[in-house]
Amino acid sequence: MSGKIVCVIGAGAAGLCAARHLLATPGLTPVVYEQGAAIGGTWVYTPETGTDSRHGLPIHASMYEKLRTNLPKECMAFPDFPFDPDKYASSFIGHAEVRRYLEEYCEHFGLKSRIHLEKQVKLVKPDGGGGWKVSVKDLCTSALSDHSFDAVVVCNGHYSIPAFADVAGMDAFAGVAMHSHDYRVADDFRGKRVVVLGASASGQDIGLEIATTADKVYVSHNGPKMVAPLPENVEQTTGVIKCTGPRDFEVVDGTGLKDIDAIIFCTGYAYDMSFVSDEVPIRLVDRQIQPLYKHLVHTAFPTMSVIGVPIKILPFPVFDVQIRYVCSYLTGKFKLPSTAEMDAYVVHDKAKRLRVEGIVEKYYHKFSSYQWEYLRDLADESGVEPLPPGFEQLYELVWGKRRLDLQHYKDDNYTWSEKENKFVERKD
Ligand code: FAD
Repeated sequence: MSGKIVCVIGAGAAGLCAARHLLATPGLTPVVYEQGAAIGGTWVYTPETGTDSRHGLPIHASMYEKLRTNLPKECMAFPDFPFDPDKYASSFIGHAEVRRYLEEYCEHFGLKSRIHLEKQVKLVKPDGGGGWKVSVKDLCTSALSDHSFDAVVVCNGHYSIPAFADVAGMDAFAGVAMHSHDYRVADDFRGKRVVVLGASASGQDIGLEIATTADKVYVSHNGPKMVAPLPENVEQTTGVIKCTGPRDFEVVDGTGLKDIDAIIFCTGYAYDMSFVSDEVPIRLVDRQIQPLYKHLVHTAFPTMSVIGVPIKILPFPVFDVQIRYVCSYLTGKFKLPSTAEMDAYVVHDKAKRLRVEGIVEKYYHKFSSYQWEYLRDLADESGVEPLPPGFEQLYELVWGKRRLDLQHYKDDNYTWSEKENKFVERKD
């Protein structure tokens, strides 16, 4: 094989996108390792929780049975591979449909032969010459093998390892305490009194879903109050701080929540870079991976990139721009700044966002509307095509609607209007 051989870790949406663009770039050849038995990452729903029955690995997927996407498929899609409107009617679709879409993507771009399933990357180590030694475990035989690469693209996802909030005295709680990672069906909470801790995407979605079967749902959080009307049996409270008895909690403003049967921690997930050797400085602090230039490129080892680190984004389109940026510098189409310059950028960029956007340190990777400036910046620096029109407009439209009508925003469907040059609601 000529050119650069690139190791891709993971065959979820990010890994597939990496394979697709690496394959299409002359001079780059992807080799994808996926520990699961199928492609699709977190979209491979399983009712199982805990460890998988095949290899005893922690269950990767955090999907629940009735999950529908919180983004319309029209702007959730990879920009070069829209969902086929003849196959996918609604804008907000189920996890099985997203999985099918990813399989179609894989098929369409001829990625299958590049993906090695049930192969777990155990160690990624610099080879001393700018490349990498990667140790891979065959999960079916337990055999370990070592491989050499010119570059590594990490696509291991970050919605699998539960992060819990500190609640004092939790040991005294006699009900069910679990993380949203293990939530599957609302029926498990029929007739119960439930605390959902956290009101980001998962907390809101799971809270509403459980309200269809539970007697009472407290959505407990310290963010701005949700303004959307909520079902009668759902109440917002400030964040839980301590467990005060076998069935009781106290929240920040001193209110007590009594006779609670279950608490679900919708408190986010941790990043994992444990397979990278200690020779590569990586700090996982305050819900950040550092030091990454533009949330993407390791500043000291720039042949290592990590796709999809930002949160609150359009994941697939962001992966797409990021990986095209990586292909572009790996093939010398543009030159990255020096390590010192990239480190200085991180410090400066963080200080600016903390100051201008008023965000706190732990939300440095949380983008929301900042993603548009970020994506334009990546495209400008690397010369890759920016996102086509409409993605930003539809995302902002839907998040605006969601804020006001959490219970019904997924009932709407969207279509591109040539006349108006934007996405509009589709009247079926
Ligand atoms: P993953 O899908 O997690 O894939 C990572 C892959 O890497 C996995 O297959 C894993 O097995 C593999 N892997 C990990 N470590 C190793 C290793 N050491 N060796 C080999 N393989 C490894 N996004 C949307 O766009 N729309 C939505 O509506 C939406 N809803 C969501 C709802 C929930 C509940 C969750 C959890 C996420 C949601 N997301 C949504 C975000 C979703 O995570 C991203 O869209 C995207 O699928 C992430 O892709 P990924 O490839 O980065 O990670």
